[in-house]
Amino acid sequence: SANRNETPNWLKQRAFLTPDRLAIRYEGKNYSFLDLHQLVEKRARQLHQIDIKRGDTVGLLMKNSLEMVINIHALMYLGAVNVLLNTRLTAGELLWQINDANIKCVICDDELSVHFPGKKVMTLSELQLCDEKEAALDDSFILDDVATIMYTSGTTGKPKGVQQTFGNHWWSAIGSVLNLGLKDGDCWLLAVPLFHISGLSILMRSVIYGIGIVLHSSFSAKEANRAIKNEGVTIASVVTAMLNDMLQELGSDTYPKSFRCMLLGGGPAPRPILEQCREKEIPVFQTYGMTETCSQIATLAPEFCFSKLGSAGKPLFPAQIRIVADGRACSPNEEGEIVVKGPNVTPGYLHRPDATNEAIRDGWFYTGDLGYLDEEGFLYVLDRRSDLIVSGGENIYPAEVEAVILSHPSVKDVGVVGKENKKWGKVPHAFVVRSEEVSEEELRQFCLKKLAKYKVPKGFTFVESLPRNASKKLLRRKLKEWL
Ligand code: ATP
Ligand code: MG
Repeated sequence: SANRNETPNWLKQRAFLTPDRLAIRYEGKNYSFLDLHQLVEKRARQLHQIDIKRGDTVGLLMKNSLEMVINIHALMYLGAVNVLLNTRLTAGELLWQINDANIKCVICDDELSVHFPGKKVMTLSELQLCDEKEAALDDSFILDDVATIMYTSGTTGKPKGVQQTFGNHWWSAIGSVLNLGLKDGDCWLLAVPLFHISGLSILMRSVIYGIGIVLHSSFSAKEANRAIKNEGVTIASVVTAMLNDMLQELGSDTYPKSFRCMLLGGGPAPRPILEQCREKEIPVFQTYGMTETCSQIATLAPEFCFSKLGSAGKPLFPAQIRIVADGRACSPNEEGEIVVKGPNVTPGYLHRPDATNEAIRDGWFYTGDLGYLDEEGFLYVLDRRSDLIVSGGENIYPAEVEAVILSHPSVKDVGVVGKENKKWGKVPHAFVVRSEEVSEEELRQFCLKKLAKYKVPKGFTFVESLPRNASKKLLRRKLKEWL
């Protein structure tokens, strides 16, 4: 009988439907969907030559490149599962993930080649020289099959392997486009890592929608701005730190009118940067999502861009969001844990039934993030539950304090954590990277003007830089160790 849970192989179908459209622009060269499909078929046969088969789990340890894209698709053509490894991890951290995911073989960029005991490692140059072996390539994908495994960023603790099905990716792409729409000539800037869901989801959307990608091997504000100004990019995915750099590099210049969406996610969006974008008429769409939701689960629709400044918007069409505290649904404006539901949400963590059962209850996924919904159902993300500072019974969200300090012209970067205190339980403490001379007392006075007194950091430590992970996220747990 017909399998209703099946779609055609996405890239293959795309290459059949619109073969000549731009798939990827990389290092100044354009590749159509047909070009890409052909490169992928060849690579799949090379992978088959080294014995990669249906059901195998294969690690990819690569930086963004055309070759990485080819490998991702080729593994899908073979019915093998991609494990996208973070290139900034140490060998020890990588080995832990490689064993955890039971990886059969690791494919890596030549310069990233490391010996993993008991594991087969194949460098890209070795793979490129492989002969081809005839292989049965998948004409279709089963939506319930796991397509990719991606470890969470490990911001709050040890990373967990998130299983992402074809269906998760499919619904994520559909939910995104039902909100952002699709325009003739749309082209997405991919300058975030492909090994994170922010990057991989752009690749999936490109083949599902039939739109082009401008692929950057790493982020450079100058290159990103150039792509938007001169290469027809209409949508870009960024995190706050990237957007900051891009605004600075842009100076008094602007983006063309055709640039219609700066999708800003991955972490809190400080108000000053949103306001700066408003002044420059840069269309910022704040979005909220995570590895477990296969990218966005809520995004602020264009018509609310200004009236709901600071909100991460409403759920995407296929998704639902609730706020829960003490086991009950909160009323509007009441703070609690953000819980979500939708076909883009992971079926669970790899080999972690405990973590899965803790996160997924009654079909709802408990995100570990705190937030609230206003009367109209717009989501405001406050911070991670684990980063909340409770001081004298009052809740302090480090992200709010950081945003204020960051708006000081002499501050380049800042991280706030709770410090043990006999009287208050915890008090906020700030680690500050300065761009120019400023004293602790000046910063304190600045904060007192904008924040309730209990939220003002009791101490400031000036540092050279802050600990951030590969997605540029602040590692507050490292800061706590610095205290
Ligand atoms: P780990 O789960 O291992 O601690 P991580 O949660 O940082 O790592 P990701 O899945 O990459 O790993 O990040 C998702 C998280 O990023 C969300 O749960 C949330 O805490 C944060 N985040 C994403 N978007 C926003 C946003 N718009 N505002 C505030 N925080 C956000
Ligand atoms: Mg997480």
